[in-house]
Amino acid sequence: ERLVTAAASTDDNALERALRPKQLEEYVGQKKARGQLEIFISAAKQRQEALDHVLLFGPPGLGKTTLAHIIAREMGVNLRQTSGPVLDRPGDLAALLTNLEANDVLFIDEIHRLSPVVEEILYPALEDYAIDIMIGDGPAARSVKLDLKPFTLIGATTRAGMLTNPLRDRFGIVARLEFYTVEELSLIVKRSANLLNAGLDDGGALEIAKRSRGTPRIANRLLRRVRDYAEVKANGQITQSIADAALSMLDVDAVGFDVMDRKLLEAIVHKFDGGPVGVDNLASAISEERETIEDVIEPYLIQQGFLQRTPRGRVATALAYAHLGLPSTSSKDL
Ligand code: ADP
Repeated sequence: ERLVTAAASTDDNALERALRPKQLEEYVGQKKARGQLEIFISAAKQRQEALDHVLLFGPPGLGKTTLAHIIAREMGVNLRQTSGPVLDRPGDLAALLTNLEANDVLFIDEIHRLSPVVEEILYPALEDYAIDIMIGDGPAARSVKLDLKPFTLIGATTRAGMLTNPLRDRFGIVARLEFYTVEELSLIVKRSANLLNAGLDDGGALEIAKRSRGTPRIANRLLRRVRDYAEVKANGQITQSIADAALSMLDVDAVGFDVMDRKLLEAIVHKFDGGPVGVDNLASAISEERETIEDVIEPYLIQQGFLQRTPRGRVATALAYAHLGLPSTSSKDL
């Protein structure tokens, strides 16, 4: 399994729940999203109304699920959780919606993968807190309108661009989650180390933070692996040099790239002469799903300036050449 992947693995789940911040004030970073939400949550609570529907978007592992749980907790309501691909029958959504209590949160992860028939049910639910369901069949079938209690939908997606317009338009609050800074990730691993009873000094925290691809899920996963290493190879204390040795052994390089990141950059440079190359060609060249490249691998490479997305395809930058230890082809950088 890819160590630096941002996708959650089942083996991570219990640990993730344990490390998940429970209150807005424990939630590190994301100042902009947090600031907005603080105001909207207070206002909704004062009016004793449901919070407006919220869309959270950004790459995996940045804290969308965590934030959804925090919102429900701050609102003092229940959260029901499902995901786009799981929710494939309209009846399942109807059952979830009719069971919500007033002002509850319904969290739908991967909301861009809802089927069109399920989405149809969702529109009136979001707009008027009502759904239309069919009773009976054949000529006697008729549609019955069912009122719902006011509720908040929180949708999470890796790509807001994949949502249909009518669905996107129904979210009153839209928050984009950003990659975390090294300082923020340092705070997160220190907090996690405390909860895990692991010895971690500032240098160790910084080293893990620098190599976590801006992503808390990865930071926590690396912390766990480095802790194993420290327990076996040292006295359990995670210092800068222990973290460096452990991460190098795990093939996480100095900027946090793993085998897949390097494979992608190398493919562009060696097989496609630095680009531009279309994402589908790139996907087959490295035997990876297009979606994985777009959602998991490339956002961080782009944010860090190693990769550019141009109308004609992906281009490796001078930074990518330097990282791979190659002379940059100057014509590419014009
Ligand atoms: P997403 O839903 O965006 O894939 P999660 O909400 O599951 O991401 O976050 C992954 C893990 O990262 C969580 O278990 C949590 O421990 C940690 N995490 C995410 N965001 C933060 C944050 N802002 N502060 C501290 N820890 C965080």
